[in-house]
Amino acid sequence: MPGAQQTDTAPSTPTERTALTIRGLHKHYGSHRALDGVDLSVETGEVYGLLGPNGAGKTTLMKAMLGLQRPSSGTIEIFGRPVGRESLAQVGALIEVPGLWPTLTAAETMKVHARLRGVPEEWIAPALQTVKMDGVGGRRVGAYSLGMRWRLGIAVALLARPRLLLLDEPTNGLDPVGIKEMRGIIRALADEGVAVLLASHQLAEVAQVCDRVQVLVEGRTRYEGALAGLAPDGDLEQGFFRLVESADARIR
Ligand code: ATP
Repeated sequence: MPGAQQTDTAPSTPTERTALTIRGLHKHYGSHRALDGVDLSVETGEVYGLLGPNGAGKTTLMKAMLGLQRPSSGTIEIFGRPVGRESLAQVGALIEVPGLWPTLTAAETMKVHARLRGVPEEWIAPALQTVKMDGVGGRRVGAYSLGMRWRLGIAVALLARPRLLLLDEPTNGLDPVGIKEMRGIIRALADEGVAVLLASHQLAEVAQVCDRVQVLVEGRTRYEGALAGLAPDGDLEQGFFRLVESADARIR
């Protein structure tokens, strides 16, 4: 049915392995509904993909999870607790372009963030190793490629050893080698037990790394479940376009 939500699994009940539970989330900007009743849950050790075209509401949803946007209604729980100082201590995030100081080196950048977050300096080296930036030495961030900036942004997000990692368009602007590396890093983090929520408008990126996906169109959930369920005929791209186009047809 055009415009209807599809799922390939029954809605899950939160358990102690559930990192994130969102129920009935709405966000209105004046009369514009950026989010219109979104439900979502991410489990420990899972990579969950939030897919949607431009303007679908992905960034708004991410910002609400981080307490940067106040929802109009609905609830968000992180490891069973509402969004707040305690629950956000378990969250690392990279939303949009990483804000980095061009005159600092990677190690100096990490030291500033360690102080800001009250994290011991011994945690810096493992975070840089995870993103393979432990060998960049005294180069300043201003001379980094976009790929290196993204990796440092992820290292900052990992600094406080989060159990839930939120990434908005994590491979934006990266070349194919950088994208492959980034996928490997995300997968390895999930295998270590981190819950990863990744928002993207690139189906291919999500297809290769995510365990489950949600397709958001105009602020509404159009699909949730295994990626394969998006297209029983195996053509994921067509399955995705069908969902987006059926929503478009309904909106016109
Ligand atoms: P993209 O992939 O382009 O980043 P997105 O899925 O992240 O898109 P959002 O940035 O969350 O989408 O935007 C969702 C909708 O809400 C869009 O129609 C956008 O124009 C609108 N919107 C976002 N922020 C604001 C704001 N501060 N005021 C008014 N409208 C906003």
